[in-house]
Amino acid sequence: MALAVADAHVDVSGSLKGKPGPILLLGAPGAGKGTQAKDLAAKWEIPQISTGDLLRTNRDHGTPLGMKAKQIMDEGKLVPDDLVNEMVAERLKQPDTANGYILDGYPRTLGQAKWLDEHVGADAGVLPVIAVSIQVGYNELLRRITGRRNCPVCGTIYNIYLQPPKVDEKCDLDGTPLVRRSDDTEEVFRERMRTYDSQTAPVVEHYRAQGRFEAVDGSKPVNAVAAEVEAAVARLRGSGTEKTEKQNRV
Ligand code: AMP
Repeated sequence: MALAVADAHVDVSGSLKGKPGPILLLGAPGAGKGTQAKDLAAKWEIPQISTGDLLRTNRDHGTPLGMKAKQIMDEGKLVPDDLVNEMVAERLKQPDTANGYILDGYPRTLGQAKWLDEHVGADAGVLPVIAVSIQVGYNELLRRITGRRNCPVCGTIYNIYLQPPKVDEKCDLDGTPLVRRSDDTEEVFRERMRTYDSQTAPVVEHYRAQGRFEAVDGSKPVNAVAAEVEAAVARLRGSGTEKTEKQNRV
């Protein structure tokens, strides 16, 4: 998993060339981390690693980890650090992470961030972890979360307010009835936001203090946010000297 520093560079247009290395997408529930991570991972040919998706897969398969996580997830709370760290450690052993990866929804606590620093930084000369936070206002997040539906067959994501399917509650591609994540209710959203503010906000400060952090405006259209995330990653992987005060602000 050693990612040589010399392998990442920024070309004259400001685009990232070479190995992207470890990239973290931070942001509140509904900020669009999953959407952005999926698109950028495909573009850079590195895996998207979503701890929420990994936990849901474990839950749906009834593994010991999934059984421990189920109730915690349904309540909008965080699964204990040691369980999540172990799951991430296993995933990072896969050879597809050699050129980098996008972690989506991890780290969510200072303990996870410190664990990751040690875990990834174990080899001298590896690319440092960089973090980009996608910022969206509370009311917009609420609308995104409570309106979110997905097709259980093909995975297409809809929003009944912002991006509705052609036929109510049915997938446009295969007609399957859409489902809602059990934690996408308003009540659980409020708890997830409380958890985010108390436990995940310090993670932002952790990376900002080390100059490995930028924030982008996630209220813009998906493509515009993607361009901003990409530019932020390129700056963080470059000299970082062109970073402005505004870009470094939450
Ligand atoms: P997400 O899909 O990222 O919104 O995650 C859904 C739920 O999975 C969260 O509300 C948590 O209960 C749990 N979860 C996901 N990632 C983590 C993490 N890094 N640490 C602890 N719990 C997590």
